[in-house]
Amino acid sequence: MMRHLYFHRDSERGVEGTYNWLADELGELGEALKGEDKEAIEKEFADVIAWLASLANLTGIDIERATVEKYSGKCPKCQKSPCQCTF
Ligand SMILES: [Zn+2]
Repeated sequence: MMRHLYFHRDSERGVEGTYNWLADELGELGEALKGEDKEAIEKEFADVIAWLASLANLTGIDIERATVEKYSGKCPKCQKSPCQCTF
């Protein structure tokens, strides 16, 4: 969906510019998390995912496939679900 909506614009902005937008959005999410406005937090999560998807599209990464391949229902480190890793 993000490819359809924004790939032409993301391509003009480039990887570095899109990464910078993602970093800005992460900062906005961090600020929203300091408050209690659940709707604002929800919107910031959506923005972070959207910009992350844009960046993945620009780099030719299938973010869904990569995530499922790495995590596939268990922790990639301890191979357990739920994770049993010690902090
Ligand atoms: Zn683990």
